Amino acid sequence: MNTDKRKVVLIGTGMVGMSFAYALVNQGGICNELVLIDVNKERANGEAMDLNHGLAFAKSNMKIYAGDYHDCKDADIIVIAAGVAQKEGETRLDLLQRNTAVFRSIITPVVKSGFDGIFLVATNPVDIMTRVTYEISRFGSARVIGTGTSLDTARLRYLLGDYFTVDPKNIHAYVIGEHGDSEFVPLSQVMLATKHVTEILEDKKNDYCVDDMQKIEEQVRTAAYKIIEAKRATYYGIGMAITRIVKAILGDENSVLTVSAKLCGEYDTRNVFVGVPCIIGRNGVKEIIELSLSDDEKEKFRNSCEVLEENFDGLQL
Ligand code: NAD
Repeated sequence: MNTDKRKVVLIGTGMVGMSFAYALVNQGGICNELVLIDVNKERANGEAMDLNHGLAFAKSNMKIYAGDYHDCKDADIIVIAAGVAQKEGETRLDLLQRNTAVFRSIITPVVKSGFDGIFLVATNPVDIMTRVTYEISRFGSARVIGTGTSLDTARLRYLLGDYFTVDPKNIHAYVIGEHGDSEFVPLSQVMLATKHVTEILEDKKNDYCVDDMQKIEEQVRTAAYKIIEAKRATYYGIGMAITRIVKAILGDENSVLTVSAKLCGEYDTRNVFVGVPCIIGRNGVKEIIELSLSDDEKEKFRNSCEVLEENFDGLQL
């Protein structure tokens, strides 16, 4: 008998949540049970029906159904993509306060169910909402993860691969900091295969230049604004990023991904949840990798953490 049950509960079956669910079903073999929960039960039911109708074409079988918080008890991962949209005239902090109330209404029953797995948060502002999840759930920090700058890092690797005409898989580079305006690329840590890109820029001045690196960084930082302008929301990329993190956890891969994790002294910072490269396995964050940043990069990282700290401090939990 196959006892290898890998169960994921998705809370929030909107565009982001369902893009994740769709990627999960299509990639196949990552988990074998997927539960959909939404405050709008009819929507969750409809989404479960729609996905189930595609199973005949999927790579592997899965049990998919709309459920409730009791179903969280024996889940391995709870993915949260639930949230409310910004109202006209509403400040960022007001929105944050309303999303905190949404999270309380979600995390309290999840914890009450007896859930003992890993929280993975995608709702924005993701670093703050991950910290809110940590504070409300009182789970160990290794088991509370946000999608952080995982999508931004994928965007960066794609753009750098295009620039150097190299497979993005052979580009080793990270976007770190807040998933937002203060995020940045530590250029000193960007590598093509095992060669520093700063060296390549020096060696091939006729072909490449630092200005282009800055343009690429700006393109990454503003990508979400551009997509929202064109099609109102972003969801496929983040859906695939969530799938990648879930796969790393359930497969105990020990893969390095730039998730939002709680700093416990790394980069001389404590308590803030922020996007940093982490080793991700079956128990969540196994280790935060501390990069050797230049003084200028350290300053940018400190600034990003301060932005997050200020936003969190303004919240009433
Ligand atoms: P959406 O409006 O399509 O979906 C949100 C869903 O949450 C809806 O189905 C709604 O019914 C549900 N919901 C609201 N309150 C709930 C509650 N109390 N309990 C259960 N479900 C509830 O929005 P979306 O486009 O899917 O975006 C979801 C979130 O993901 C947003 O916060 C968005 O900013 C964020 N996002 C994050 C990233 C990232 O990189 N982390 C990228 C894109 C979007």
